[in-house]
Amino acid sequence: MTLTSQQVKDFAKAAGADLCGVANMERFEGAPAQMDPRNIFPGARSAIVLGRRIPRGVYRGIEEGTHWSNYTFYGYNRLNTLMLPKAQYATACFIEDYGFEATPVYPGVAEAEPSREPLREGQPGPNVYPNIRIAAVAAGVGEMGWSKVFLSPEFGPRQRLCMILTDAELEPDPLVKPNSICNLCMACVEDCPGHCIPHIKEGKVVEIQIEGNTYRWGDVDMGKCTLTHHGLNKEASPFLCKDCPGLYMPVTEQECSEEEAYKLTHSVGRATWRKTPEFPSGHVLDYAYTMLHGVGYYAVCGARGCIRACFMSNGPAGEPDRKFHNEFRKKPMWTLNPKGEVGVKE
Ligand code: SF4
Ligand code: SF4
Repeated sequence: MTLTSQQVKDFAKAAGADLCGVANMERFEGAPAQMDPRNIFPGARSAIVLGRRIPRGVYRGIEEGTHWSNYTFYGYNRLNTLMLPKAQYATACFIEDYGFEATPVYPGVAEAEPSREPLREGQPGPNVYPNIRIAAVAAGVGEMGWSKVFLSPEFGPRQRLCMILTDAELEPDPLVKPNSICNLCMACVEDCPGHCIPHIKEGKVVEIQIEGNTYRWGDVDMGKCTLTHHGLNKEASPFLCKDCPGLYMPVTEQECSEEEAYKLTHSVGRATWRKTPEFPSGHVLDYAYTMLHGVGYYAVCGARGCIRACFMSNGPAGEPDRKFHNEFRKKPMWTLNPKGEVGVKE
């Protein structure tokens, strides 16, 4: 039985995907071995990238400064681990009904470094994790924004992504040209409470080539982003401000790696101040609760710079949000300074 790109896309969208694009495997030429999808499925001929939108409304509570669970649940954790993989799994089964193998690749965050010996000579050790955002660029779904957040014409910075590898040879999509969505406005840099996205003037750039196109983005300080995202930054977390009033740890002075920040926020942060209605004191039982329920943490920063400022920006990345009946920001943005004092950005 033959299978076309259009059939896969139609099925994926009927199964719940908002975005779907196809890359041939040649577009991954030059990828580091530990991130090359061809090392997961050496016989793959195509990579299909699916996306589901993050509804703008899930940012509302954090934008107002009144409610944090929505974004973590519907815009991050459960979108990545439940809503999106349902469409991915169904599409993989659809492809296999046509007699082609289909490997859904888990859309979680990659391990920092390979920590195990290769199990066969000449191949990378477990685990290989492709960069899903770069795969989405290769599949023509959009491009990388300066902030390192993926941008699509349909939703700007508001989507999560996943991938299926298959030995079906499908028609690849044309690439989105560099900087056709990100206009380098630097709104993400200005509003990021982690101060982790470099300004373009600093010259800290990451660069890749796909079919002669050069895609560039800022070399984001992931240590500072991780501290902020997981709530160890008083400029982003009212919870830390309230629970640890004596702590003075400006994020701008931290030099930890992403891995260090992750360990710190996951061992100290969740057990200390992440509270739920069931465990309002935020003690160690809450840690057990969040582990059991698989949510694990609040995405505390609410992507204030890299997503919210981006979808409110004036360029093409903000275009999808200009189609809403009402503007997203209705009052001046609340701010916290490194000591946790409340203010507003006019
Ligand atoms: S806010 Fe968005 S469009 Fe502007 S520079 Fe950042 S990523 Fe690019
Ligand atoms: S998640 Fe927050 S800290 Fe990280 S880049 Fe986005 S705005 Fe900055």
